[in-house]
Amino acid sequence: MKTLLLILFSIPYLIYAQDGVKPIIDMHLHDYTEETYFVAPSSDGTMAPPSLTEYRKQMKQILQKYNVVNAVLSTIGGANELDEEGVFIPGMYTNEPPQDTTLFKELIETGQMKVFGEIGAVYAGRTLADPEFEPYLRICERYNIPVAIHTGGGPSGIAYRCCPQFRITLGDPYTLEDVLVKHPGLKIYMMHAGEVFYEHALRLMTSYRQLYADLGVLLWVHEQPMDYAEQFLKKAKKYGLLDRVMFGSDQMVWPHAIEKSILKLDGYDFLIEKEKRMIFYENASRFLELE
Ligand SMILES: [Zn+2]
Repeated sequence: MKTLLLILFSIPYLIYAQDGVKPIIDMHLHDYTEETYFVAPSSDGTMAPPSLTEYRKQMKQILQKYNVVNAVLSTIGGANELDEEGVFIPGMYTNEPPQDTTLFKELIETGQMKVFGEIGAVYAGRTLADPEFEPYLRICERYNIPVAIHTGGGPSGIAYRCCPQFRITLGDPYTLEDVLVKHPGLKIYMMHAGEVFYEHALRLMTSYRQLYADLGVLLWVHEQPMDYAEQFLKKAKKYGLLDRVMFGSDQMVWPHAIEKSILKLDGYDFLIEKEKRMIFYENASRFLELE
């Protein structure tokens, strides 16, 4: 009995320990200020941690448990400044184009922003091709700063709440084509891999070899996006595009979503171990030029 118990309890531990030694990069994390942090249940009923401090603590614990060695965190300052281990790569969340090119360049030159995004242009009724984004894309191209653009839809009923200009159609990856043509040297990745428009994401990746995608939100939030993720990955494999797909969780205020996303991707039996390693780490490492 004792041996049986030992085996039963050892199995999950061994799985985690094995995963733990292999590094992971999460291309899609969020952080908040005391004013913007919110406590709400996730789609699976899990409640967000009661405070920002607790949220950050739980997030760090899960990142350590799964050996997430780097993560793009879409905030200026905040947890990025408290990050002594150098795990976080600071991004900048915005829905609207920034208003000041001098300040924007300063953020880059001082290392406060290493990724421009997440850009949630769709929530402001915009696309990245809007001329107001143009000067900032030019700067990113010049400074070799990756651009992280939200693609696909958003939460249910969002146009009735914060964002009356929101339209799902604005999240179509094809809205990025003019930007890709105008800025062939710009590093850019489609957050959420196009979501409902995953076939457009794949088609665009075939035409524009510099374009990457992350799996943020798709691996955990709801049955529908999880279905998109599976279709996207199966087709990316068939079309030979897996070398530009990157892991991302988009945990929002729910740190457990990082764990759920890792286990989901790890559990796909249509991907071989080598392909999982590309998605979990190698593609992002190359894209971010971490080596
Ligand atoms: Zn997003």
